[in-house]
Amino acid sequence: MKKVVLNIQNLNQSYEKQQRVIKALSLLTYEGSIVSLVGESGSGKTTLARLIAGLEVPDSGTIELNGEMVFGDDRFMPPEERGVGMVFQSYALFPHLSVEKNIAYGISKKENIRATVDETLELVGLLEYRSRYPHQLSGGQQQRVALARTIAAKPKILILDEPTAVLTPQESEALYKIIRRLADQNHSIIFISHKMKEVLDLSQRITVLHRGKSMGTYLNQELSAEILSNLMLGKKMPPSKNETPNEFSNDVIAKKTSLEEEGNHTTENREVVVLSDIHAHNNRGNKILN
Ligand code: ADP
Ligand code: MG
Repeated sequence: MKKVVLNIQNLNQSYEKQQRVIKALSLLTYEGSIVSLVGESGSGKTTLARLIAGLEVPDSGTIELNGEMVFGDDRFMPPEERGVGMVFQSYALFPHLSVEKNIAYGISKKENIRATVDETLELVGLLEYRSRYPHQLSGGQQQRVALARTIAAKPKILILDEPTAVLTPQESEALYKIIRRLADQNHSIIFISHKMKEVLDLSQRITVLHRGKSMGTYLNQELSAEILSNLMLGKKMPPSKNETPNEFSNDVIAKKTSLEEEGNHTTENREVVVLSDIHAHNNRGNKILN
């Protein structure tokens, strides 16, 4: 059984006491494993990432990293102590610093900076770009520098928030390869996306978010694009044909149960478009709708 890195239980968050943006959310991540967080725009993915990093304060719930409480029991560990590495859609490199200096920026002075820069640049395949400036690189290369910078700070967990949003398919592929390699090197990774195809391609475990609520964590093989899109729209999946428990399924089962306990608050029956008694004729005067 792999080690749990992040353990979130029953997390709630609202901005300025308005509508709740994260609702009773629980999530586990494991060492050496990628979990994808997928949901439509506005479903709360970035908010969840910010809560994990300590950039927002939850209303309630608990967050543990490597077994240590970082939120909960009257404890709030500040972001700079948490060791949560974030990569965003906008790579946000320092434009006036070289690649090398962008990466060195986040490395503790106690370390061998040169060695860490080399190691991380090698990992993202950009060793020969160390003296270049961000504007001399493609978007995909800049995103890989941003990833190298985050890895250089040796985070306990890595959260990538829609890192491929502005990349070409080829650049995205190059990034997936690096992400997989990082998982093989025992990193724990949360990959956030609203693109179904990429989460199905990239990860074994997929957590679906709908209006701030987890629709459950599923194994890749349990999902199809159709099931996934239904989940993203808040429609529950038909009972799984394959309920065989395995090392990853603890929170899968827990999640389904907790959803059931909460009652059915899904939006299956919410009317979006209502047509009634529509009649129409075409330009020849023939009735085409009745
Ligand atoms: P996602 O990343 O899945 O697109 P977000 O976490 O950005 O979703 O947003 C979730 C919800 O929270 C949205 O309804 C959004 O409008 C709202 N929201 C996000 N950030 C703020 C904020 N700083 N203040 C108030 N509401 C916010
Ligand atoms: Mg977002």
